Amino acid sequence: MRSVAVIGASLAGLCAARALRDQGFEGEISVIGDEVHRPYDRPPLSKDFLLGVLDQIDLALETDSEPDVRWVLGRRAVRLDGATAEIELDDGSRIAADGVIVATGARARPFAGRGLAGVHVLRTLEDALALREELRPGTRMAVIGAGFIGAEVASTAHKRGLDVTVIEAAEVPLAGALGATLGAALARVHEENGVRLSCGTGVAELTGAGRVTGVALTDGRHIPADVVVVGIGANPNVEWLQGGPVELDDGVRCDARGGTSVPQVVAVGDCASWYDPVLGRQHRVEHWTGAMERPAIAVSTLLNGSYPGIAPAKPPYFWSEQYDRRIQFAGYPHLADSVDVELGSPDGPSFLAVYRREGVAVAALGVNRPREFTRVRRGLCPVAA
Ligand SMILES: Cc1cc2nc3c(=O)[nH]c(=O)nc-3n(C[C@H](O)[C@H](O)[C@H](O)COP(=O)(O)OP(=O)(O)OC[C@H]3O[C@@H](n4cnc5c(N)ncnc54)[C@H](O)[C@@H]3O)c2cc1C
Repeated sequence: MRSVAVIGASLAGLCAARALRDQGFEGEISVIGDEVHRPYDRPPLSKDFLLGVLDQIDLALETDSEPDVRWVLGRRAVRLDGATAEIELDDGSRIAADGVIVATGARARPFAGRGLAGVHVLRTLEDALALREELRPGTRMAVIGAGFIGAEVASTAHKRGLDVTVIEAAEVPLAGALGATLGAALARVHEENGVRLSCGTGVAELTGAGRVTGVALTDGRHIPADVVVVGIGANPNVEWLQGGPVELDDGVRCDARGGTSVPQVVAVGDCASWYDPVLGRQHRVEHWTGAMERPAIAVSTLLNGSYPGIAPAKPPYFWSEQYDRRIQFAGYPHLADSVDVELGSPDGPSFLAVYRREGVAVAALGVNRPREFTRVRRGLCPVAA
């Protein structure tokens, strides 16, 4: 293999380029990204960058000692040619490569309907800059979706002095991810901080002409808002591969090492749906740590076909920061048959909960318990589904 093209110039793409050099690849690496920016970090976009504590320069992911690669920025890959193994870009140019690493991530799911000013999603630097402009004290903000990004935006906006309402269609926010009891415990933190939370009612439409004036709910209520943030999840950026040789399902369908249906193509990060042997099914993970760690495994797959000395993927892990709480979660909550709060209380500012299956820890949730959480996380034992 003499040349590798990495499609997607963000966290997973950069980590793939690093892993190629770390694993001895000396050929040409091209990194193609449709954003004009060099790789930047997204987690601060809903936290300290949105708050105004960090600047754009603080988001840079590159350090002083990065691999030598050819950057092709501001160009979108539109097709992978199965016959010639070439990548076609949106300006009609083509890049030939012996190996391809797909790292095209995901994009924020929009709210269907009219485009109104004052309605935001949050995925890119431009999204964050536009939203940051609107965070003025006293402004009324409605956040649609009480998932992690919605909750973080609500927390940051509250710190900036906005009057915030979070709207969640489910009866209990995050119940799918954490279970109903602990989901409810995290949700209470909004109200403890003076942010209103409306659960169990969907959104009928956004109101306003030209600029948004509020959110009409399916139960007839209307939440007035000067700014609306839509945080209802993300879709994998894989349309450009449709009709091509790479098999897709919810993202790029991969084996447990990032290999796709095409031997010289692997996929990593938020766009990749790896087979998870613990769950016994495909699982697309949209977390920073997965996008950072898994490229080393996929690169080994690409370069060697077999996997000498590379450990399998670790259980999914993510963190979130809301109000004065640092939340950390790892593992497979859906496999658990019991959940125990082992330290602190879900009603207080810090606790540690361990999810077990037949007595074996399969997942853990820590709130302001970083040391204890890390100890449990290290011991999480995958259970065959
Ligand atoms: C606001 C926010 C806060 C977050 N906070 C946390 C957190 O606290 N904890 C946590 O664990 N995770 C968090 N995440 C998730 C984490 O940032 C992602 O998991 C991570 O960015 C995934 O990296 P990636 O490289 O796979 O994808 P992305 O970062 O989405 O990058 C993919 C890149 O590919 C580009 N691209 C797409 N299609 C094409 C194409 N056809 N051609 C060329 N380029 C293309 C995209 O524009 C993008 O630049 C957060 C995400 C966001 C948006």
